[in-house]
Amino acid sequence: MGKSTWKSEGQIMDGPQLRPHKTTQTKNILITGGAGFVGSHLCERMLQAGHRVICIDNFQTGDKRNIVHLHNNPAFSVINHDVVDPIDHDVDEIYNLACPASPPRYQMDPIHTTKTSVIGTMNLLELAARTGARLFQASTSEVYGDPSVHPQPESYWGHVNAFGPRACYDEGKRCAETLCFDYHHRHGVDVRIARIFNTYGPRMSAADGRVVSNFIVQALRGEDITIYGDGTQTRSFCYVDDLVESFVRLMDSRDLPFGPFNLGNPGEFTVRELAEMVIDLSGSSSRIVHHPLPVDDPRQRCPDIQRATRYLGWRPEVALAEGLERTINYFDALFSERSIAAEA
Ligand code: NAD
Ligand code: UDP
Repeated sequence: MGKSTWKSEGQIMDGPQLRPHKTTQTKNILITGGAGFVGSHLCERMLQAGHRVICIDNFQTGDKRNIVHLHNNPAFSVINHDVVDPIDHDVDEIYNLACPASPPRYQMDPIHTTKTSVIGTMNLLELAARTGARLFQASTSEVYGDPSVHPQPESYWGHVNAFGPRACYDEGKRCAETLCFDYHHRHGVDVRIARIFNTYGPRMSAADGRVVSNFIVQALRGEDITIYGDGTQTRSFCYVDDLVESFVRLMDSRDLPFGPFNLGNPGEFTVRELAEMVIDLSGSSSRIVHHPLPVDDPRQRCPDIQRATRYLGWRPEVALAEGLERTINYFDALFSERSIAAEA
């Protein structure tokens, strides 16, 4: 392959020599964090497309039940491994999703969270450099911290506290992006960076403390719905199927401008609006109660997705009410199954 150029928006610059990327139909795809919420949907999608999938997970927040239905597929394998330790495998593509996403979970062992993002991503970039695999990095809207620009475009550098309880996640993910940038320029690794905004759907962990799963579980159990703070803070919620579609487009597109892509649903809701929707859709009699707002909790969050729309032809299709309904049905069925199993 000859000397390539990489395009940053509005300019074409001399860039690194990218390694040739496999374009044949069946690929060996490594998915780290494949037993987690988003990762399990991605494993499923890649198997449906006819690829071989190697799922790597240390099961810190993942669950074997998320991938149990894939075990009979001969194209699927699972390795219990921590990405903080190097890995060697002959692969064509790497999706690096390993990292707890829920604030209470990533704050439980903050040093390990930073190691997962920094050392883990470096190990996978090394693997990509050795094998010529294209690498997808699951970054996050948290790189914008508590944003002073709204909605957030990719050009915004963010407002992150490096010295707080969320820093292990936010700064770890920021450093991982920096590593992607430098491995691209120094070693020609073909990287795709997704800045993912709050995503929800079936297979979220019922106990991981994120707002959508908390509210749905509380509503279905008739428990109080716990709003942190006054509930005027906003988030933008993307249904998991929409997100996975954006991953595939980001990974499969050619001639993309180099740099991160915001992936999320630009519909913006207050946490109170979310609570009211969940109560309404689940027909729950739960009351709303208020708990203290966690430290450094961002006030507002909404993606500017013009870049994804322009270059990937992508925009989310599932409206919040519809996605919540599907997620409520999932948790409802899960709890009924578990209570039947417990009775038996
Ligand atoms: P999740 O916690 O359900 O899944 C993460 C998976 O990674 C789990 O299976 C966990 O066991 C595994 N893991 C964690 N540390 C690991 C390590 N050191 N080695 C190997 N495996 C490890 O979270 P999710 O919601 O599925 O998020 C997936 C990715 O997307 C994460 O990287 C997260 O930061 C990113 N993301 C998610 C959201 C969201 O709203 N879900 C938003 C922004 C970014
Ligand atoms: N939140 C809440 N009640 C809960 C869980 C979360 O009010 O039971 C709030 C949280 O303080 C934040 C928003 O909901 O303002 C989203 O929280 P989540 O943990 O899902 O993700 P974040 O975007 O903060 O990483």
